[in-house]
Amino acid sequence: MHYLMTGGTGFIGSRLVHSLLEDNHKVTVVSRSPEKVMGLLGPGVNAVSLNDVNLIKEPIDGVINLAGEPIVDKRWNAQRKKLLRESRIDFTEQLIEQLVMADARPAFFISGSAIGFYGSHEGGAPLNEKSNPVIGFTHDLCRDWEAAALEAQKRLGSRVCLLRTGVVLGAGGGALAKMLPPFKFGLGGAIGSGEQWMSWIHLEDEVAAIRFLMVHETLVGVFNVTSPNAVTNKVFTKTLGAVLDKPTWLTVPEFMLSLMLGEASELLVKGQRVYPACLLDAGFEFTYPGLEEALHSVL
Ligand code: NDP
Repeated sequence: MHYLMTGGTGFIGSRLVHSLLEDNHKVTVVSRSPEKVMGLLGPGVNAVSLNDVNLIKEPIDGVINLAGEPIVDKRWNAQRKKLLRESRIDFTEQLIEQLVMADARPAFFISGSAIGFYGSHEGGAPLNEKSNPVIGFTHDLCRDWEAAALEAQKRLGSRVCLLRTGVVLGAGGGALAKMLPPFKFGLGGAIGSGEQWMSWIHLEDEVAAIRFLMVHETLVGVFNVTSPNAVTNKVFTKTLGAVLDKPTWLTVPEFMLSLMLGEASELLVKGQRVYPACLLDAGFEFTYPGLEEALHSVL
C-alpha cells in the first residue's frame, strides 16, 4: 500500500513511518523540508512539499495527517496562536485541495487532534468522545482542525478518523523529554495542586491505534487516543520518581509556569481525565495500559 503522511518527521510520525516501512508499505512524507526527509528517516521514504502533492502520480491508499507547530513550547501570543492554527487548519485545507487536484481517492484520512478538544476540565469525571467541551483556545483549535479534516469525507470520499491524542510518552522526544531533566537531578515535583488529571499514552500504543484505525474499514469519526488509566499529576510525578529512583518532594508553583508560559500553562495546570471509549469498544488492546509499565518500557 502507498500512504501519504504529514508530520512524518515528527515524534509520532517518524515512529509510524518506520512501522509502515517495516511492513513493506510505501510512504510519501509531506514536509516543509523534503530534501531533509531521507536523512532523517532513512532510505525508502519519498518526500514532497505541500504544494507538490498534486503532482503525485502513484495512487494514494490512505492519508495520515499529523503536521502542526508544537503547542506547549512557547507563550501563546497572538502571532503564536495564528501559527498554531495555520499549521493545522489552513495546512489541512490545503492538503485536501492538493489531493483533489491530484484526483486522489484515499480510502481513509486519519487526522490529528488532541484531548485539548475537551478544554480545561477541572473535575475528575472521565470524558468520552460524547462529552461536552469547555470552550477556550485549545477547544477552538481542535474543533476547527477536526472540521477541516472532515472535508476529506465530502471532497475525497475518504473515511475520516480523528485522533484526540493525550500526552504521548516515548523515548527521545515528546513531553517526557521535557520533563526528565529536573527529575533526573532530583528536582522533579507535582505541578500546582497535583490534583489535575493527566491523560497519557505510550508511543507504541499511539502508533498501534493509528494502524488499527487504518485497517478497520468500518471505524469512522472521533477516537480518544489515551490509555484507559489516566492519573492525577501527583500520581504521575510519584510514579516517574519511583521509576527513576529519584525524590519528588518539590512542588512547581502555578504562578511560575504562568510566568514562563502564559496562557499555555493551562495545559499543565488544568487537565482532563479522558477515557478511550470508542477504541476499546472497537476491540483495540493496549500494550501499555498502566503508567508504571509504560514508564519502565520508555526509560
Ligand atoms: P512534532 O512536533 O514532533 O512533529 C510535528 C510535525 O509537524 C513536524 O515534524 C513538522 O514536519 C510539522 N510541522 C511543525 N511545524 C509546522 C508548521 N509551522 N507548518 C507545517 N508543518 C509543521 O509533533 P508530534 O509528533 O509530537 O505530534 C503530531 C501531532 O499530534 C501534532 O499535530 C500534535 O499537536 C498532535 N499531538 C501530539 C501530542 C504529543 O504528546 N506528542 C499530544 C496531542 C496531540 P516538517 O518539519 O517535516 O514539515
